[in-house]
This record gives sequence, C-alpha cells and structure tokens, in this order.
Amino acid sequence: MRLSSMLFVTLREDPAEAEIPSHKLLLRAGYIRRIGSGIYAYLPLMWRVLKKVSQIVREEMDATGAQECLLPQLQPSDLWRESGRWDTYTKAEGIMFALTDRQERELGLGPTHEEVITTIAKEMIRSYRQLPLHLYQIQTKFRDEIRPRFGLMRGREFIMKDGYSFHTDSESLKKTYQDMNRAYSNMLRRSGLQFRAVEADSGAIGGSGSQEFMVLADAGEDEVLYTPDGKYAANVEKAVSLPADAVPSPFSTYEKRETPGTDTIEKLCQFFKCSPTQVVKNVLYQAVYDSGMTVLAIVSIRGDQEVNEVKLQNELTKLASQFGGKAVLSLTVPDAQAQQKWAAKPLPLGYIAPNLEDSYITSEKNLSPKFLRLVDKTAVDLTNFVTGANETGYHVAGANWGEHFQQPALVVDIRKARPGDRATHDPSQTLESARGIEVGHIFQLGVKYSQSMGATYTSEQGEEVPLVMGCYGVGVSRLAQAAVEQSYDKDGIIWPVAIAPYHAIITIPNITDGKQVEAAEKLYGELNKAGIETLLDDRDERAGVKFKDADLIGIPYRIVPGRSLKDGKVEVVERATRKSQEMPVGEVLPTLKQWIDAALQNTSA
Ligand code: ATP
Ligand code: MG
Repeated sequence: MRLSSMLFVTLREDPAEAEIPSHKLLLRAGYIRRIGSGIYAYLPLMWRVLKKVSQIVREEMDATGAQECLLPQLQPSDLWRESGRWDTYTKAEGIMFALTDRQERELGLGPTHEEVITTIAKEMIRSYRQLPLHLYQIQTKFRDEIRPRFGLMRGREFIMKDGYSFHTDSESLKKTYQDMNRAYSNMLRRSGLQFRAVEADSGAIGGSGSQEFMVLADAGEDEVLYTPDGKYAANVEKAVSLPADAVPSPFSTYEKRETPGTDTIEKLCQFFKCSPTQVVKNVLYQAVYDSGMTVLAIVSIRGDQEVNEVKLQNELTKLASQFGGKAVLSLTVPDAQAQQKWAAKPLPLGYIAPNLEDSYITSEKNLSPKFLRLVDKTAVDLTNFVTGANETGYHVAGANWGEHFQQPALVVDIRKARPGDRATHDPSQTLESARGIEVGHIFQLGVKYSQSMGATYTSEQGEEVPLVMGCYGVGVSRLAQAAVEQSYDKDGIIWPVAIAPYHAIITIPNITDGKQVEAAEKLYGELNKAGIETLLDDRDERAGVKFKDADLIGIPYRIVPGRSLKDGKVEVVERATRKSQEMPVGEVLPTLKQWIDAALQNTSA
C-alpha cells in the first residue's frame, strides 16, 4: 500500500480524550477514531491488526476441533427471560442495550450469546452421539458499559471471539476446558503478549470454575495477586489468603465507653490504643434483588480487613430466594440520599454494632423489614473485641459473641485478600500484586443455562438429561490494544511482528530523487510479491516527518533507500531496537524473510 493513496492522518499532540499510552498512540497514529462514548471506528491499519489477531484466534480454535459459525446480534427477550437474565442485564447496572421493534416485541443487542446458543442446542442436539460439540464465532458485541474508557479496552461496541461447548458430563467438559486453556495461551503467546492465567470469579455469567488471561500492564483495570513460587495467581475479586493473626485483646471486661470523634477505625484505635485486629467493624450495604426487593445488610468484619464486594455479592445471590428473586441487581454502600429512602431515624454512622435494631428500617413494600446480618470469618473468632454501641460517640469494649451479641447465624468469607497476606497453599509464601488487562476468560458453566432453558439430550442409558456446558471468550479488540500497552516507546507503537498491520515500510527520503524512487518501487514490488507486507511512504513530505510517522505507527522494519544507494545499499532499521544497518539491496528480501520467520517462530514455540 502506498501512503500517498491511503487515509493516513497522524497527530503530533496527544488527544485530550485519551488517558493511557495505548489509547493515545492508537488515536495519534490514526488507527482508530472516536465516534461516540465507547464507540470507535477501526481505520484501515487497525482493521489489518484486528484481522491478524482474529486469524490467530481462529487457527488456535480450529486446531482444537471447534467449529466457526455466526450468531445473530439481535436477540429476542424471550430467550433471556427463559434463562432468567433479562432483568439483570437490562435493569439497574445491567449492560444490555434493549429495544422494542415495530411490533412491540422486546429485543436485546447481544452482549454475549449463552441464550442463543443454548436455544440452538436445545433444538438440534438430541443424543449423546452428537457430543461433545464446540461452536465459536468472532463478532461485534454490544455492552452499555457504566464506564466506557481507554479506547478499545472498554468499548460499548467491541469485537469478541466467544465459544460454547456442550458435553455429556463434567469429565468431557474439563477436557475441553483444558484444551481451551492451551489454545488461549497459544493465542496470546503468538500475538507476542506477556500474560498470566489466573483464577477468576464467574460473575453474572455463572457456573463453577473459571480462569482469566491477564496481559500484565500498569494500566490494567484488574488486580492480580500471585505468589513468587508460581503456584498461585488469582484475580483479587476471587483471591483467598490467610489474614494476619489478631493481636490478643487488652480488654477483659465488657463496658460501654464514650469515644467522641471516633467514626473511623483509625481514630478509634488511636483512642483505645488498640490494634484494628481487636475491632469488629460493621459496614452497611444496600442490595436490590431482581424481585424488586431492597435488602439492607450489616456486614461485620475484623477492623483491619476490607470487604470484597464481589464475594459479598455472590453470598447475597445465594440468599436471593429468601427475597423472592434469583439475582442481585445492585449492591452499594448507601449514601445519605439513599438512606433517606428507608431509614426511620438517623443512623449512628461510624458507631454501628452488629445488632443495630431493625426499627431503623421504615416499613414499606419492597423493603425487607429486617437487617440481613453477615459476619466474616475474621470477625467470628474475636474475643473481648471493640465495636460500635449503636449510639453516636460511643463504643463498647470487651465484647463477645454469644454473650453481648447474638452468635452469628450467617458466617461467610467475604474479606479481600491483599498483597502481603500469607498464601493458603504455603503460608511461607506471601501474595504479591500486579496490574492486568483481562483479555480472555474461560468458564465451566455446567448446567446453569441448559437447565433453565430445558436443553437436554438423551443419554446412553436413554435418559433425558441437561447438557453440560462451557463458554470461552477472548476480547479481540481489547487484545490488540493491550499489545500496544505492553509495547511502545516515546516515539510510538512497537507492534509485535505477528500482529503488525504491515511487516515493513519503505521510506523514500526524497521523492524528487529518481534513483531513490526507482529502488524503492522495485523493492516494494518484490517484497510484497514474496509475502512481506510492505508499505511505501511515497508522500511528498520531509524525510524527518516520514521517519517520525514510521516510528509512530510502529511497523517492525523500515527500509530507507538513501545516500548509500550509490554503493547499491539501503538502510534497514529495526523499530523495536532501533538497530540500523546498511545492506546490499539484494539481501533485503532474504534477510527480512528470515527475521520475520524467526520473530513468528519465537512467539509460537
Ligand atoms: P470485564 O470484567 O473487563 O468487564 P467481562 O468479565 O465482562 O470483562 P467477559 O464477559 O468474560 O468479560 O468477556 C470476554 C472478553 O471480552 C473479556 O475477557 C474481554 O477481553 C472482552 N471484553 C469484555 N468487555 C469488553 C469491553 N467493554 N470492551 C472491550 N472488550 C471487552
Ligand atoms: Mg470476565
């Protein structure tokens, strides 16, 4: 491709809308263009990158025996009602774009495809003889993200490969899950990325085991906790660890004390000169269930610990049937405005005890009249602890469960694991933290969707049983941007060879020099013919501008027919290392071929 005839516009300045390096660079280098919040156009260079990533994904999927298909993006609401996800995906913090057609039928724009694929399986898979089966697609997904940001990292329209497998039993599912683990590792390695597979929360998609593939980068939105021995790595949402030991309590008798101005754990501990491990902290949460019921929860946890809201939400989901629902639509710490809606009288905030009276809740339809009281494991073991007195400016010390407070009925593990905590598999290992960009997620779904949607098959014994399912997603567009986030310098992008839009760029320093043009044109023809994807910068611009642009767009190899042309040589520069060498024109093709093959080999081993 000739730059003179391309839509090629680069920017010298960082666009104000972009915060992280990869987003800035893709905008500046003319790969993408913002059309609206979380909506981007993939311009020709970007599209080539995305096609390369898709091709790697496709090859790895096909190698496992999975079959490619293409499912509809417009999805009838009935399917989502059958699975029970219509409300969770369209109400409150739901992320599905929903619309009504001219016949007043409700539809959603596909954020994911469990419902569609399960319907197909229900109708088409009859017998165990058809199993296992794995279908995948590469397609644009729509999600009305609460905070679209960082360009392609969190778009409202983005490209995903999603695959769904069907099995007779969990043994067969596990085998495919392992195959996917390998396929995903291969995809990322081949794309030239540094990554880590971590244990993950299964979230709204549901099911049991799941693993995320994290590209390690400071701009990552996820936190990964891992041990140096390489035996444990998990998303902080899912991570477990051993809490630090509690310091024995200095209080031996129960007493209520005036503790003015101690509405935080820190101030309280200063006042009492005690350790936060001797305090039971009580945090108020407000959950809204899909039944429409609002429930207020008091979560008691050791003072030095924090609540992991993902774990809390999972616990609240388990209790959903008590409140006539199936799922939690939203979970928040209620602010003053939210409290006004249900509090019968001002709350003793900062001084709440585990037994805060239910009379604080007004009686109203759709409002659970009682606090749901959850106690984290770290708080259950404490004796002679300090906690609130349910009265502003007062705390109690020397308190005990079963004596001053009812023995906890709902004991849960909802504490957040933190860097520095001891690992459960080996307490001599401590957790370390890294930032990651989630590019892939694989799930063992089990029978969650097949059961709710009635997708069964006839087993070898002649019984009708639900299909066992797995699902596997990789963010193609996010992955492409993650590659930039991992590989750039002050001058621009440094694409890994495997997903670079072009392998090489020939920059003609002076287009009025007939010799330069002639040599460039000849090489351009030969390289492309030999399968080395090459750009020709034949624009009427200063050489400096062209070199800057070549660096910015990050093409792995630059060829410059310049001064040494008189000796039959051209300059060849490697973008990543900036290593430059003069090379006889005739050696350019075989040398580049060898470098490119070696680069692809390195990442595919
Ligand atoms: P996240 O936790 O980042 O919101 P998710 O858990 O909702 O992602 P999945 O439903 O597992 O994501 O989707 C599979 C993959 O699709 C993710 O691993 C990610 O690479 C990609 N993806 C998800 N949401 C977006 C988005 N808004 N923009 C770009 N890629 C996305
Ligand atoms: Mg995920």
